[in-house]
Amino acid sequence: MSEPDGLKEFLQVDLRSLHFITLVGTQGRHADGMGNEFAQRYRIKYSRDGSNWVGWHDRKGRQVIEGNRNAYDVVLKDLEPPIIARFVRFMPVTDHSMIVCMRVELYGCEWLDGLMSYSIPDGHQMIYRGLDVYFNDSVYDGALAERLTKGLGQLTDGTWGLDDFLHSHIYGMWPGYDFVGWSNKSFPKGYVEMIFEFDHIRNFTSMKVHCNNMFSRGVRMFRQAGCYFRSGSDWEPEPVTFRPAVDRVSQSARFVTVPLGDRTASAIKCRFHFSDVWMLFSEVAFQSGSAVYNNSRGPRKPGHPTNTLPGDDPTHKMDDSNTRILIGCLVAIIAILLTIIVIILWRQVWQKMLEKASRRMLDDELTARLAVQTQPFSSHHSSLTSEGGSTSNSTYERIFPLCADYQEPSRLIRKLPEFAQSTEHLELSSIGKALAAGGADGAPHYAEADIISLQESSDCISNSIAAVSMNLFACTDSFMREFPRHKLTFNEKLGEGQFGEVHLCEAEGMQDFLDDDLDVEGNTESPLLVAVKTLREDANKNARNDFLKEIRIMSRLRDPNIVRLLAVCVDTDPLCMITEYMENGDLNQFLCSLRRKEAAEDKTEQEKEEGKGMVSKLIGMAVQIASGMKYLSSLNFVHRDLATRNCLVGKNFTIKIADFGMSRNLYRGDYYRIQGRAVLPIRWMSWESILLGKFTMASDVWAFGVTLWEILTLCKEQPYPQLSDEQVIENTGEFFRDQGKQVYLPKPPCCPDTVYNDLMLSCWRRNAKQRPGFQEIHAQLMESLA
Ligand code: AMP
Repeated sequence: MSEPDGLKEFLQVDLRSLHFITLVGTQGRHADGMGNEFAQRYRIKYSRDGSNWVGWHDRKGRQVIEGNRNAYDVVLKDLEPPIIARFVRFMPVTDHSMIVCMRVELYGCEWLDGLMSYSIPDGHQMIYRGLDVYFNDSVYDGALAERLTKGLGQLTDGTWGLDDFLHSHIYGMWPGYDFVGWSNKSFPKGYVEMIFEFDHIRNFTSMKVHCNNMFSRGVRMFRQAGCYFRSGSDWEPEPVTFRPAVDRVSQSARFVTVPLGDRTASAIKCRFHFSDVWMLFSEVAFQSGSAVYNNSRGPRKPGHPTNTLPGDDPTHKMDDSNTRILIGCLVAIIAILLTIIVIILWRQVWQKMLEKASRRMLDDELTARLAVQTQPFSSHHSSLTSEGGSTSNSTYERIFPLCADYQEPSRLIRKLPEFAQSTEHLELSSIGKALAAGGADGAPHYAEADIISLQESSDCISNSIAAVSMNLFACTDSFMREFPRHKLTFNEKLGEGQFGEVHLCEAEGMQDFLDDDLDVEGNTESPLLVAVKTLREDANKNARNDFLKEIRIMSRLRDPNIVRLLAVCVDTDPLCMITEYMENGDLNQFLCSLRRKEAAEDKTEQEKEEGKGMVSKLIGMAVQIASGMKYLSSLNFVHRDLATRNCLVGKNFTIKIADFGMSRNLYRGDYYRIQGRAVLPIRWMSWESILLGKFTMASDVWAFGVTLWEILTLCKEQPYPQLSDEQVIENTGEFFRDQGKQVYLPKPPCCPDTVYNDLMLSCWRRNAKQRPGFQEIHAQLMESLA
């Protein structure tokens, strides 16, 4: 990619003070369809003082940034490494014939450290067991020589190195990338000297240095730091000396805080003494009190922008501007608070309206359905529509309030820069558009209202769906027989789910009651053991509707790997659904107990060998889930909550998919939008389900990949155990951005390479169209068993 010669035009932003900039966005000139000017590619230059300009490049040295493809989308670009600057120039890379219009956005925060540059000896190269490990400061933006001067780099890029310096959490970088490091062999005096220059004279309380301490490989944090201070032209003779406690136990990288005793300076020179062969730093930060302007300590740094006029008393000026800043801040805070109050009030009104509308839709839908249904349901119509029970804000919030597997992503998503802004940006972004196949019509992500299925509700009312042959919600012929309640004898509680308790019951006469095709395979016991799921008594109208919806869905499903609904008790309260009994409970608990059993057994070599049989058993379970999902996908049916907790285990490792509480049917081209404060299983959800509220068969495939991972780890931990919910959402953002920074679930130790590489990872492909279907997944798993 070349920049045309002589093109000098650029857009310059003066931020008035140093800022830490992490993200930029560009947009062309749309002008209601009249404009067609935008920058397809551009470069960035920046400056801290307005005179020295540096060209930004990414961690791999690329300078040109892909910009806009059209005149309306905002295209965001993560700056890796971030920029610390006051002035930023956007320089379009284009041929001379093109007119360019750019609207730019900068994201970041003020750089309060005030550090303008640091000067250090360049990092060294280590050879570790034949591996080249480079500890150079690869993003330093100043003068490069034996000593790096007048720039900032990795020590201020906000990225901290891992415990193991051979690895970098930045994808695709070389061993040692995260650290700048030195070997004591090149420092006969036994220390590395660093000089830090600041924007003006400050009062320093402390310095934090992020150090590696992998002493098993000859790396230790520094033994002593001696810091000298300069406010004018000379260094003060008296240093501050600090010796951190020696840690011979933990090899984890850590921040070491060096107290700087409130010394005043505009430059600090620190000597870090080696305590082993190597010393590796990944970040240095300073805490300083409010700025002190004192002419008697020496002149201001030349070239540094200042508000002080010649002859003014700088201290007085400072007080003045501080007061103005304080007043400005207070006014801004009051304005923000007022805006928040208005937004909250507006949201409440809006949400109530939406709630009413969706409830009306649901009622209409039920009215329409129930009106044409056969007897067992029609008797419920009046109770469903007239019940005045308390309502909740959103279905999902109400259903899963306490379970750690389900989260409220809308709250977390706002932390992603792209999603914190106007949803228009998301919906119009080219990536979003490409992925929201057939549905990018400007809908917001699910931050505002309840789950709405456009087609499901409206089509069913009018009974006018073209492709009805596979419609599980067809308004007619929803059929499940009422079982006499008094013939159920409750034995024990099996568990508790979103709707209420599940009990093991004896069902007298059930065998005769069932139609031939409903016969529970191989079960000739009388009375028949069944599982009875009961809707809790205090359930509100929404929960009741969902419960009935689950009954409707399950009554239509017939597959050896889907839990069979046998009968219902819905004539009187409490509502019950009677399903086949799966004696080994849910798959999550089953795998946990299997793991505990495995761990308790002291195994011989031969048994370990036999343990390989366990992997086949586990994959055999996954095969059954894939088979059940294959059946569902043949009906265009999206489960939306596939996970081990929602599968049940019967005799002989038989697995069946259960829990259709979150599922809905799917017509071709249709998808669901989630709005409202939805509480969802984010660790199982595809990036597009979380960010775009889009649930498809391909998002079920994603969840299947996670379920397979759970199975092969014997549910030892929740997926992404090291990530908080916020970080899971951030990771979802990385999948969206697709810059190689997304974190995948790791290969479970017992998982065959082919299953991980060819199957599991393919379930998590960013492009939903490139994920395999359940037919393929099933075939692949069968093959791996052969
Ligand atoms: P659910 O309400 O479907 O989430 O079920 C709650 C718990 O009850 C599950 O996690 C299982 O442990 C248990 N359970 C549900 N259905 C059955 C069944 N058909 N057979 C055995 N246990 C069940």
